[in-house]
Amino acid sequence: MTLLLDPRQRAMLAEMGVRTDFLPAASSDVPAAGASAEVAPAKVHRSETRHQPATPQAPSSPSAHPLASLAASAVSEMDWDALAQSVRECQACGLCKTRKNTVFGVGAPAAGPGLAPRADWLIVGEAPGENEDLQGEPFVGQAGRLLDNMLKALGLSRQAQGAPEASVYILNVLKCRPPGNRNPQPEELLQCAPFLERQVALLQPKIIVAMGRFAMQSLLKDTVPQVESMPLGKLRGQIYSYRGIPVVVTYHPAYLLRSLAEKAKAWADLCLALSRARRPQD
Ligand code: SF4
Repeated sequence: MTLLLDPRQRAMLAEMGVRTDFLPAASSDVPAAGASAEVAPAKVHRSETRHQPATPQAPSSPSAHPLASLAASAVSEMDWDALAQSVRECQACGLCKTRKNTVFGVGAPAAGPGLAPRADWLIVGEAPGENEDLQGEPFVGQAGRLLDNMLKALGLSRQAQGAPEASVYILNVLKCRPPGNRNPQPEELLQCAPFLERQVALLQPKIIVAMGRFAMQSLLKDTVPQVESMPLGKLRGQIYSYRGIPVVVTYHPAYLLRSLAEKAKAWADLCLALSRARRPQD
């Protein structure tokens, strides 16, 4: 599988600060699926998108918590519209008291009443920030623009209509903003997990890109031992799995805005995801 970058796409990536000269020309532009996209041994800063705790904690399994188990069983039966309504009305954790809006997700239009959008790509971020909370939409502002530009360079868009292979759906692990953009708490992640799980089950994307440490932990906690103590850079460059759907891990765009040197790695991660998304399904 190859990704051929035309001059316009290369110019766009250069505009974003992403070097493309390290990419082999034409036939080998994209790293092979499963191959490491590491440019150098990764050093991950403690704060990638938010104020990270010294020892970040992944949420434990929803089944370990009675409230979460109850919610999970109800939510697991919902269609897309009921799920969205349920998020709008949710008061399962304390974030409902300080949010201005819930942030369910954005992307390709629903395929019909009650049906999920048809999008091959799912981008999973962490939690709404101030602008997302105000607008009720994930990945807005500068970080959102950077994400959109990177997706555009791959021929993808959150606004794509009717072409699943070019369509992206974007959501966060947490649907409500933690006050002051603090880190999500384990209890909040636990309570919100059934919504994420059901969204993925209904969307059935071909590829998931986990952006940031809390997205990585939430999606890989059942498949990667001790993921909560692993730096994100250690998990880059490989394909993982969430409920049978391939997952690629990369940096959050908000972190990339502060760490320009990591943009090339994020680009390589997206190329890895593209190669996996285009591969025939197993
Ligand atoms: S963050 Fe999730 S669990 Fe908490 S109130 Fe919002 S929707 Fe409900």
